[in-house]
Amino acid sequence: MKYKVNETCIGCGLCASTCPEAFSMGDSGLAVATEKEVSTELLASAEDAKNGCPLGAITEE
Ligand code: SF4
Repeated sequence: MKYKVNETCIGCGLCASTCPEAFSMGDSGLAVATEKEVSTELLASAEDAKNGCPLGAITEE
């Protein structure tokens, strides 16, 4: 599974604290998703991050 963050992100940081392996805060202050495939062990926390985004800015690629 791969994720991406769309332009509605407001940079709240929630996804990066929920699943730092899959999401980080970029230089622009907005979240970026790792370009790597998210491993099976991390899918539950990556999904939590996706579902927890208040803007629904995280989608599956
Ligand atoms: S949780 Fe959503 S709005 Fe907050 S930083 Fe992550 S992608 Fe952006």
